Amino acid sequence: MLYPIHNLKERGFRLGATVFLDKIYISKDLDAKLTPVERHIIWAHELYHSLCEHRIQLILLWILCLGITPLVNIFRRRMELEADRYAIYKTRDIDAFIGLMDKLEHGKSTHPAKEERIKLAEAMRGKI
Ligand SMILES: [Zn+2]
Repeated sequence: MLYPIHNLKERGFRLGATVFLDKIYISKDLDAKLTPVERHIIWAHELYHSLCEHRIQLILLWILCLGITPLVNIFRRRMELEADRYAIYKTRDIDAFIGLMDKLEHGKSTHPAKEERIKLAEAMRGKI
């Protein structure tokens, strides 16, 4: 289940979604723009983060990498692509995933670039 939150962006978060304590939160502004399939893609992406304990892994990585943010972000971007791959497999809708990329904010060093995420989706076309 997705829990829409008002003014997520104004509270310092990007326009998107996150998982925290087994609940998936999504900015209300983004939620209003989504189709049901796109909402399912986000749910599957965030579910994967939760199932794989990515938040705990990031804390451990932070410690192992001595707090060197660029190094941690290399692993974090990989986790994001794994979550994207899982979401695409679960929803089996490449075009909806690519359409969703136009609705998310990109450009943070913690996440892969929009083009990289689309490239992943295109590489999965015909294979799922
Ligand atoms: Zn993610």
